Amino acid sequence: MILDTARDASSFSRLELAALKAAEWLADLVFPPTCGHCGRVDARFCASCRDELDRCPLEIAKPPVVQLNGLCSTGRHHGLLASAVRAFKYEDAADLRDLLAERLIVALSEQAWLVDAVVPVPLHADRLLDRGYNQSALMGERLARWLGIRFEPGLLGRIRNTGQQAQLSGDERIMNVDGAFAADPAVKGLSVLLVDDVVTTGATLSACAAALRAQNARAVYGIALSHALSHA
Ligand SMILES: [Zn+2]
Repeated sequence: MILDTARDASSFSRLELAALKAAEWLADLVFPPTCGHCGRVDARFCASCRDELDRCPLEIAKPPVVQLNGLCSTGRHHGLLASAVRAFKYEDAADLRDLLAERLIVALSEQAWLVDAVVPVPLHADRLLDRGYNQSALMGERLARWLGIRFEPGLLGRIRNTGQQAQLSGDERIMNVDGAFAADPAVKGLSVLLVDDVVTTGATLSACAAALRAQNARAVYGIALSHALSHA
């Protein structure tokens, strides 16, 4: 979303945000987006790449991450899958969302995990306002519906804006997210499934799990679309 960086995102009114959306729509009309994977003028992740991803088999990996009882991802963060995850992060594309959620459902169906509630990794309020949606929440909602269990985004909150993790080293990432999350006491005794888009070092999922455990969650599992962990 196009935001004037001189202003705090929270100072935009609903009307101003709608105007910005309309401006973006107009810009897309004049300068059509190109696919981030193949460069075709279409959407940010084109129909042809979506079809290819749909046919692409899952490479389910189970990288170990501290604080988690189990973690699985649908494949390595490279190529087509990485392009799809990036496009989904910056574009609220309903068909891409369903395609990616479907991958999570297939990966999850192979795990013998007993979970009571699905909780997305939360975005900070500023980032949520900027992007307009939390991609992990969109997928988490579908997972919960498929599992027939509760979708509980309110059980975990981000109490500190940690900024972008991408430029940080492994140790810096751990320090950056330390204490950034807080869980609701209502999580006591529950087995929780955390949903994230990409796991890079596991620092974020680990900090989320620590917050849930601090409020006596019984177990914490994680699922992600892709992973970039070298030891996976
Ligand atoms: Zn494409």
